[in-house]
Amino acid sequence: MGRNYADHAAELNNPITGRPLLFIKPPSAVTPFEDSLMLAGRRGTHHYETEMALLIGSTLHRAGEAEVPGAIAGIGIGLDLTLRELQSELKAAGHPWERAKAFDGSCALSRFVVPPAHIDWDNIDIALEKNGARVQHGNTGQMLFPVISLLCEISGHFTLEPGDVVMTGTPAGVGELHHGDHLKAELSTLVSAQATVVVADD
Ligand code: ZN
Repeated sequence: MGRNYADHAAELNNPITGRPLLFIKPPSAVTPFEDSLMLAGRRGTHHYETEMALLIGSTLHRAGEAEVPGAIAGIGIGLDLTLRELQSELKAAGHPWERAKAFDGSCALSRFVVPPAHIDWDNIDIALEKNGARVQHGNTGQMLFPVISLLCEISGHFTLEPGDVVMTGTPAGVGELHHGDHLKAELSTLVSAQATVVVADD
């Protein structure tokens, strides 16, 4: 989901939408958020967006709110990698974003952990450190479309199936990635991930 945090929408001068802004990445976009995070230099500069990632464990189709918590099998943290310059060109032309958002390796995902039984979905901290400095920090309580209602809404358009992953939007502080950058992302004390950026030139 795009633009789920007002502070991030504002930093990119994007209007807040009255309904969730949804887009899809294919399975080939997934890459591990660990060790070396490989980026292709030929694509241009990649930007990070740190997001809570939810692993779906059972089918959600036009789901009601009561059904949703039991269908979330895992919680993790991910990077919605974005070619911002290309995305701006595509937006200006009224074209789909996939070339800028859904390319191979554009979705870095941590391991997933089982959500604790009494998790409060609307009070989870999300943070990213780049080279030791905190660059992103938010809380799911700031989401314009809270987790449970967001999954209901999505399931009314795209049936969610076991193995699907939902990325829930990024707080403010997005920015560029360069060769050698060290990233450390944390979701409260639930899960963390670290990687060093490798920009390959082939
Ligand atoms: Zn995003």
